[in-house]
Amino acid sequence: IGGHPKAQDGPMKPAGVQRILAIGSGKGGVGKSTVSSNLAVALARAGRKVGLLDADIYGPSQPRMMGVNKRPASPDGKTIIPLHAHGVTLMSIGFMMEEGKAVVWRGPMLMGALQQMLGQVEWGELDVLLVDLPPGTGDVQLTLCTKSELSGAIVVSTPQDVALIDARKAIDMFNTLKTPVLGLIENMSLFVCPDCGSQYEIFGHGGVAAEAVKMDVPLLGSLPIDLDTRLSGDSGTPVAAGDGPMAQAYARIAEGLIK
Ligand code: ADP
Repeated sequence: IGGHPKAQDGPMKPAGVQRILAIGSGKGGVGKSTVSSNLAVALARAGRKVGLLDADIYGPSQPRMMGVNKRPASPDGKTIIPLHAHGVTLMSIGFMMEEGKAVVWRGPMLMGALQQMLGQVEWGELDVLLVDLPPGTGDVQLTLCTKSELSGAIVVSTPQDVALIDARKAIDMFNTLKTPVLGLIENMSLFVCPDCGSQYEIFGHGGVAAEAVKMDVPLLGSLPIDLDTRLSGDSGTPVAAGDGPMAQAYARIAEGLIK
């Protein structure tokens, strides 16, 4: 993996995996990877066997956000043993690259890498495998939706118009590809000043809820701009692994998904 992977045929659903859920966004930087890692941890804390596949080929964030970064073992040179962190089974294209090095691959190589990460990784028995997609509606999304048995997709957006316009496109893509959209998650909805308690709607307010109604998809949760979320992501222990209000917020979203 990471060299010159060849595209392979066949459906991409590892044998022991019950459900594959993709987490997408229209725009980059809205918190899709942050939500993916935290949701994975929250689902694991709720007793589910969870895998997280970081398919954000151009900007793999999970090694840093989940706090593990080493080359996975491949005893037979074919199968790949995933890593584990915070109760989550983890694979990232980032494990195969040096941090700070760009991936300069064309579509077929991306597809090959994605198929390898799904098909050759020993995921074991999982209730759910979350896939942290790259932002947008490109090759990776198309491959995943058409060549794997996806149970559904979740779209993350901020309430800002430019993010929502792209989130709408992501939902439209999933609809076109017949992948059920399980819902929208609003991220960075509100900032509460830790000193005075004043609330600021930095990226606007209500946009994601309105969009959810318009697109006829559920709003799965709304998460504020939160310093701990940012710090814990950078330090490799997702905020959902703690006991604060954000851990509870993620636990509620996880609960809603399990039901
Ligand atoms: P994406 O995967 O959509 O590109 P990331 O998850 O990498 O976005 O998040 C972008 C940046 O915003 C990161 O630095 C992350 O720590 C930060 N971030 C994400 N969600 C929040 C939040 N709710 N509060 C504060 N910072 C956040």
